[in-house]
Amino acid sequence: MTQTQTMTLSREDVTTKTQTITVARGDGIGPEIMDATLKVLEHAGANIKPEFIDIGEKVYLAGNTSGIPDEAWDSLRRNKVFFKGPITTPQGGGYKSLNVTIRKTLGLYANVRPNISYAPFIKTKHPNMDLVIIRENEEDLYAGIEHQQTPEVVQCLKLITRPGCEKIIRYAFKYARQNNRKKITCFTKDNIMKLTDGMFHKVFNEIAEEYPEIETEHWIIDIGMAKIADSPQDFDVIVMPNLYGDIASDVAAQITGSVGLAGSANIGDHVAMFEAIHGSAPDIAGKGIANPSGLIHGAIMMLVHLGQVEIASRIHNAWLKTLEDGIYTGDIAKGGASVGTMEFAEAVIARLGQKPTVYEPVEYKNEEQAETNDITLPLKANERPKADVVRKLDGVDVFLYNTELSPDELGKKLETLAGPKFSLAVITNRGVKVYPHGFPETFTTDHWRCRFQINESQDNITNEDIIQLLDQIQQAGLDFIKTEHLYTFNGVLGYSLGQGQ
Ligand code: NAD
Repeated sequence: MTQTQTMTLSREDVTTKTQTITVARGDGIGPEIMDATLKVLEHAGANIKPEFIDIGEKVYLAGNTSGIPDEAWDSLRRNKVFFKGPITTPQGGGYKSLNVTIRKTLGLYANVRPNISYAPFIKTKHPNMDLVIIRENEEDLYAGIEHQQTPEVVQCLKLITRPGCEKIIRYAFKYARQNNRKKITCFTKDNIMKLTDGMFHKVFNEIAEEYPEIETEHWIIDIGMAKIADSPQDFDVIVMPNLYGDIASDVAAQITGSVGLAGSANIGDHVAMFEAIHGSAPDIAGKGIANPSGLIHGAIMMLVHLGQVEIASRIHNAWLKTLEDGIYTGDIAKGGASVGTMEFAEAVIARLGQKPTVYEPVEYKNEEQAETNDITLPLKANERPKADVVRKLDGVDVFLYNTELSPDELGKKLETLAGPKFSLAVITNRGVKVYPHGFPETFTTDHWRCRFQINESQDNITNEDIIQLLDQIQQAGLDFIKTEHLYTFNGVLGYSLGQGQ
């Protein structure tokens, strides 16, 4: 039995046991859409008992900078199912995103975001759209490791790991097989980020070989996004790194008619979290006009996860019938007659037990969960044997803060102190070569990457030699701010060349 299977309730449990779920009403429109959705769940007969926790703005303002108190973590780890309203995260500064913290701390690696158009009742330029975005949920620029290194330069580390790629890409293929989807598209930018996005693409190609019945393709993210916006009906399942998935799923939801329509499941090995894809919409908070549909879809995904498939189908069909009857919130009505958040929920409640007549009625089945419940995740680094890889030190990039020396002056100075173990190979500024033979047209900042390569005649160069090199640099009055070691792995370069190198 895999670890994931242990969290899935047996059929017997589902019918006999009420599942306690952790619920956070959230910020902004969160409480309005959560109250409306919980009312739908209650009337539909969902076999759940909400346990409410406070997280987000209220908790930060009360002085808890993590935004999540210990008792909330306890509730999440005890109940293993989290139903969450949107949380406000300040832009540009202030506390870190609680959404990201929860996803990463609890290992919710797969973010599943279905986007379906509901023509003819919801106006859209894309009436035949039915795509699922599977977004990597723990890595990429969302590692949140940022530093200001010099007065002029800030940095955000983009971390992509092989186990992280394997987890999400395997999940996407299993999801496709489970849901009878025919094609998976991968989006990356590996023409530019050859190592990070390159690894994602490579693992995609490797795992694709295990699923010959599923068609696969890859698009570079920029043209891929353009294709989603122009011809979304050409896509089926799309898997991508975290940031691209975040952007693509808002675009995809919006072109179905409103960002307020789509729900999302955040799946992990131990815990799963369900929410709407949209945010806390402060511009309409407190007005009672937000569309609760995204959160209702999150609830439907949660019920399927809990094995309560009849209730999930009941709510989904009542929701479709509500649209067929012309009942819309303002974001869908777009100036036409509209109802408020709670009125919309009450209209869904009034149709529980009915089926749509124009849309295809929905019928979830428990067996549909089988494939994605059977994922064996990679073990943690300290639990598995060390990889059998020959890692060899090739040199070091030393980053300097310098406002005085020109590229040529800096280059000459570093060349004299490099030898005999190292040679200065190149100096780049913002990634582009400025020494040797830099162009006067190239703009420079106060942040210089100086690449020292180990000389061919030298064997057994170690970190000790790098420390000596740094000492020389320091003695020469230069200010180093960071180093990156250059390695080869099984003889393959583990670092990119400078632009123009
Ligand atoms: P947003 O999704 O909250 O709003 C974008 C636009 O869509 C707004 O005009 C809003 O009124 C509209 N909208 C969103 N949901 C709607 C709904 N259900 N019904 C009708 N209209 C709806 O995006 P934003 O303004 O960029 O972000 C606001 C806050 O939400 C930020 O603090 C952000 O960090 C946070 N956020 C949270 C989550 C989450 O909790 N998972 C996700 C995204 C953004």
